[in-house]
Amino acid sequence: MPEIKKLLIANRGEIALRIHRACHEMGIKTVAVHSTADADAMHVRLADQAICIGPPSATESYLNIANIISAAEVSGADAIHPGYGFLSENAKFAEIVEAHGLIFVGPKPEHIRTMGDKVEAKRTAGALGLPLVPGSDGALTDSAEAKRLARDIGYPVLIKAASGGGGRGMKVVPSEDEMDTLMAQAGSEAKAAFGDATVYMEKYLGNPRHIEFQVFGDGNGNAIHLGERDCSLQRRHQKVLEEAPSPIITPEERERMGGIVAKAMADMGYRGAGTIEFLWEDGEFYFIEMNTRLQVEHPVTEAITGLDLVREQIRIAEGHPLTLRQEDVVFRGHAIECRINAEDPRTFAPSPGLVKQYHAPGGMHVRVDSGLYAGYKVPPYYDSMIAKLIVYGTTRQGALRRLRRALEEFVIEGMKTTIPLHQALLDDPEFQQGDYTIKWLEEWLARQE
Ligand code: ADP
Repeated sequence: MPEIKKLLIANRGEIALRIHRACHEMGIKTVAVHSTADADAMHVRLADQAICIGPPSATESYLNIANIISAAEVSGADAIHPGYGFLSENAKFAEIVEAHGLIFVGPKPEHIRTMGDKVEAKRTAGALGLPLVPGSDGALTDSAEAKRLARDIGYPVLIKAASGGGGRGMKVVPSEDEMDTLMAQAGSEAKAAFGDATVYMEKYLGNPRHIEFQVFGDGNGNAIHLGERDCSLQRRHQKVLEEAPSPIITPEERERMGGIVAKAMADMGYRGAGTIEFLWEDGEFYFIEMNTRLQVEHPVTEAITGLDLVREQIRIAEGHPLTLRQEDVVFRGHAIECRINAEDPRTFAPSPGLVKQYHAPGGMHVRVDSGLYAGYKVPPYYDSMIAKLIVYGTTRQGALRRLRRALEEFVIEGMKTTIPLHQALLDDPEFQQGDYTIKWLEEWLARQE
């Protein structure tokens, strides 16, 4: 079995640090790669080796495949972990990594490719027995066909980009007379953003929840699920706060749906970590997409299962069998994660800059994943998420109380952050009851004006 001795982390920020930590706990040396803007980043300071791979622009650094592969060769790394974002769902990158005799800590390239094309992903998911959102059977080409289909499905419908991601490239079409314009707009926006104008149609669900299942496969036909996460609290289709388990999924539903997704992954021969995303409305699940990588919100699953997901990814990449059988997976307690962004908590305008004071909360069952430290300068070039706060409690009520206490302790001075937004959310009775859908946060924000 190929043992990983030195791993290159092809990412930045908190996730680079997260991967470094798992590696050092496993006795694996780490190589950080960084842009010139990240020379002082915490993951660069902690890694055993660091290599600058380009200027601030991500295209020239964190997305620069040639420089990353060179860094791996120069440093003698035997594996690459891509984290999330950047090259993590780039099938070509995974192939290039493997073609250089390096271990890619991630799924088989063909599965990354299939799931990266949402039209192909839906077709595959349907064939594997996952329930789908009613919609077009594949890509949509002309608007006459789109109108015929939408009449059957019922308005409003959603036009989505096949290569879309990050909540971009979606248009809600309220009625037939707007189909021509909105479909053309969706196509040209998709072309501009993703280099691919392909679009497809889905029924626009009125008020669903976003519920996703964490899965792991060994690549040889064995797979397990680690339960669900509820990521319904979103702004502009971007997740803000996540929890596990979902306040509305019963143990029976978890077992039933988890069994379906795990079987699908086993049948597919899926390797590594993955997330199957569903919308959930009136007791029904509808598959929307699969992410073939580690997710930002993976720590809530770690908190309730006790499993280190990055360690598990690395072990699978080395060819080990899954650590747990399904019957060994035990769900305990409740976990909540807040994404803390360097943004104005009301306008959401980015607020990068110098961290003047920094104090992270601690105490029982409180985890902070962040690369921040006093004196660090948050660069303006990348994602605005600067920290994740994850709390665990034996009950949801307990987790909520602990979250309030931890947010009180958190000090980040020198920039605006979304900590006050999370504090205000915690005071809301509907949130406290777990009574929210994907529309809820935006309506709540509008009421705060
Ligand atoms: P992306 O890859 O851009 O994140 P997704 O397909 O995962 O796209 O959808 C992102 C979000 O958009 C979902 O979490 C949900 O809030 C909303 N959404 C997607 N599909 C639908 C739909 N058919 N009806 C209503 N909302 C949807």
